[in-house]
Amino acid sequence: MSYTQKVMEDLTKRYSHQPVFLQAVQEVFMSLQPALDKNPAYEEHKILERIVEPERIIGFRVEWVDDKGEIQINRGYRVQYNSALGPYKGGLRFHPSVNIGILKFLGFEQIFKNSLTDLPIGGAKGGSDFDPKGKSELEVMRFCQAFMNELYRHVGATIDVPAGDIGVGGREVAYLFGQYKKLTTSYEGVLTGKHVLFGGSLARTEATGYGAVYFAQDMMAGRGDTLEGKTCVVSGAGNVAIYCCQKLQQIGANPVTVSDSRGMIHDPEGIRVDILKQVKEVERASLTRYAELVPTARYTPVSDYPAGRNAVWNVPCDAAFPCATQNELNIEDAKILLANGCKCISEGANMPSTLEAVNAFLASGICYGPAKAANAGGVATSQLEMAQNASMQDWDFATVDGKLRRIMHSIYFNASETAKEFGQPNNLVLGANIAGFRKVADAMIAQGVC
Ligand code: NDP
Repeated sequence: MSYTQKVMEDLTKRYSHQPVFLQAVQEVFMSLQPALDKNPAYEEHKILERIVEPERIIGFRVEWVDDKGEIQINRGYRVQYNSALGPYKGGLRFHPSVNIGILKFLGFEQIFKNSLTDLPIGGAKGGSDFDPKGKSELEVMRFCQAFMNELYRHVGATIDVPAGDIGVGGREVAYLFGQYKKLTTSYEGVLTGKHVLFGGSLARTEATGYGAVYFAQDMMAGRGDTLEGKTCVVSGAGNVAIYCCQKLQQIGANPVTVSDSRGMIHDPEGIRVDILKQVKEVERASLTRYAELVPTARYTPVSDYPAGRNAVWNVPCDAAFPCATQNELNIEDAKILLANGCKCISEGANMPSTLEAVNAFLASGICYGPAKAANAGGVATSQLEMAQNASMQDWDFATVDGKLRRIMHSIYFNASETAKEFGQPNNLVLGANIAGFRKVADAMIAQGVC
């Protein structure tokens, strides 16, 4: 039995109740054996057994009072996974589905993603089962304050720097930041994704979506092709999806779909990003509102498509950008995309494709950019925000966007060169996993057993 199989077997026994976490580990382990064979020090130092366990998991009660005066209780968490390369860094997710297993999957992914950026940041993730949907502005503020009332003990500009994720955008980050400042009397870069008025970085809002498009451009260029003039499908209608659509249009591609948890929009004329921003960022409404405002758009509710499926993948396209959530693209979807001639997948969301779908993409030989590489632009720009905060500087949009472009290119280069080194050119899953892993593993060995 190989080293990866041995560790995976133990892990599966211990964490059988955390299936998405096991899936994330499996996806990394399926690439690592050649690197482990090449350097026996990793097994001698028990790196796999150590790297799968978070350094620390913090769990806490979050109690707050709703608008009716009723006490509400949620669960809050921070998984501080690995600090070999720098202070813990990773987003906060507020969604009813949040539990330790989901945060461990996200935190585990984050370790390797952050390593790939080549910036000094460790891996973490956190959040709560609080659902911001349908809550008043004051309820969201009270919840964020209550959440920070405990989290502030565990974070800090050189300790752990959270950011946004699903359900946590600029509004939530601002309330969290205000409460941290109140509790600590310290005005520091403890969170990223802040408003530019108080320490946020220009281009951070756009960075994950833009980065996924930059990564797709590099993959296509590697095959002598381009995204210009191509039809693209995008899932999700939040932060990542909106700016993915915007960048696609800027480079001359045509994004024709977006989706949310209630339905999807298809518009062959192209998504109206200004209207999408108005509906999602300002009105916080569902995509039915978008369809009311854009006559060429066709809305399909989720009730019209098979359970667990997202109909955006049925729309014929040249490139696909999953930007909603984990496991939103399964093997059936992958087969449809491939049959329709899709040449490129660039993942804006974390682990949006099931393992079977990933294997189908790899077997087909099309360009496939796995999440930990393709969506690393968000965390990379968060680190640029940390650098600006630490040096008390503000960089202009073009400076930050230029750095983001170079970082995405270097991630692509690193993943594709590593794939070549291990005899599997074009397998960016293998390239990204090994390149991300080696840096963290080497740092852990150098730092000793601690
Ligand atoms: P948002 O909350 O801004 O948007 C999420 C979008 O996905 C919404 O349209 C939401 O629909 C939809 N969605 C969420 N869960 C589901 C579900 N279970 N089924 C169908 N649709 C769903 O989040 P982000 O755009 O920030 O994040 C999207 C993905 O990108 C996540 O996987 C996140 O981890 C990843 N990511 C985000 C980064 C960032 O910088 N924000 C950085 C790197 C990765 P609805 O509003 O109806 O719930």
